[in-house]
Amino acid sequence: MAKPFPILGFDVGGTKVAVSLVLSDGTLVASSRVPNKEREPDDVLPAMVSAGKSLLADAGIPREELKAVGVCTPSPLDFKRGIVMAPPNMKMWKHVPIRDFLAEEFGVRAFFDNDANASGLAEWLFGSGVGVQDMLYLTMSTGIGAGVIANGHLLRGATCDAGEVGHMILDANGPLCNCGLRGCWEAFSGGRAIAQRMQRELADKPNSTIVKLAGSLENIDMKTLSDAVLANDPYACAVWDGMMERNAQSSPSAPSPSSAATSS
Ligand SMILES: [Zn+2]
Repeated sequence: MAKPFPILGFDVGGTKVAVSLVLSDGTLVASSRVPNKEREPDDVLPAMVSAGKSLLADAGIPREELKAVGVCTPSPLDFKRGIVMAPPNMKMWKHVPIRDFLAEEFGVRAFFDNDANASGLAEWLFGSGVGVQDMLYLTMSTGIGAGVIANGHLLRGATCDAGEVGHMILDANGPLCNCGLRGCWEAFSGGRAIAQRMQRELADKPNSTIVKLAGSLENIDMKTLSDAVLANDPYACAVWDGMMERNAQSSPSAPSPSSAATSS
């Protein structure tokens, strides 16, 4: 079997870029993070390159041995041209030719895809999806997305938007989503939406468990929520249950609330 070769991976998200040095057999050698919250791509891109070069140097791998770079970003994106278009959770990133930038900086071929597709592929090739023909990889982070493997192929769709399940509308009169629509699944259960909701609702409750756990209103996130749930905080448990109900509503097997309502 051929010796595994090194690859750099960049997972660009709404709060951070996860940078990984991996081997082609799926082994993770090392990883680091670059902050990407409210930051311009002009600042983040060079920091990504530095982080990648540091990982290589720390692992004692000469640049010439690097065989490829993989990068993924949230949708929408131009898959063919390697451009991240204007993801709702990354307001400052507009039409950034990220694939070719990284290819040029590292002098190797760069591969680009939607983050949920890339995660789905990884899970299929190296994780719990090995050997199956059909699977759905669900990512729940700042936003919500899915990578769909159908009949042994990654499903991209005509505009690389297949699996954008986070923007399925669960309630047309629901909260405003970052995408501009109302009541998307992500607007109910996405990490950012939940954090913003708690910050809004707890703005005048400095003594609440969640604010105390977070240290400040601005620091409230999903980690704070899960910590507060484990501490049996009633407000946190109510937020958690509401989120789980919306998650269940998104499942194809869940009964539709509208069909139940019309039967009366
Ligand atoms: Zn949406």
